[in-house]
Amino acid sequence: MKTEDLKNHIASIENYPKPGIIFRDITPLMGNGEAYKFATDQLVDYARDKNVDVIVGPEARGFIIGCPMAYAMGIGFAPVRKEGKLPREVIKVTYDLEYGQDVLTIHKDAIKPGQRVLIVDDLLATGGTIEATIKLVHELGGEVVGAAFLLELVELNGRAKLGDIDTKVLLEY
Ligand code: AMP
Repeated sequence: MKTEDLKNHIASIENYPKPGIIFRDITPLMGNGEAYKFATDQLVDYARDKNVDVIVGPEARGFIIGCPMAYAMGIGFAPVRKEGKLPREVIKVTYDLEYGQDVLTIHKDAIKPGQRVLIVDDLLATGGTIEATIKLVHELGGEVVGAAFLLELVELNGRAKLGDIDTKVLLEY
């Protein structure tokens, strides 16, 4: 399999969830064992030489990418979740959506100061979610050593929000 072949396992749904949006659905990729493993292995290859201590991913699709990577690398995974979902002491960040705002949280003890963190998600769009996730990691004293995504919607320029953080993307749209 080649990286580009993974596009055969991404479904594109026009005008979902609202008019003008093309939703890139990764569930066919997840549903195909060979494609899911190949994509995970590609991202693990990227992460291996970075000496990562912990992977951090926002709900819910960041878990789908980050948990198999953490398992393969024998390291931990820390979930970033919407407000009210994590049961212990959290820190939070408020970030702007197209309309309105949202809040993301992480457990206060999820990252120890100085730990090397890889941030992952399924898709980089405007970068708002990832920017908020980076803030949470930095607030806990973690060092963001990279960011990895299955897909990037290039026109939305989410990379600008990543600054100089090293970034790996498997498929560009
Ligand atoms: P953003 O904060 O704009 O980078 O968007 C982040 C999240 O929204 C990603 O983790 C995706 O899960 C989801 N998302 C945004 N745009 C799309 C899209 N066109 N298709 C599928 N998911 C999307």
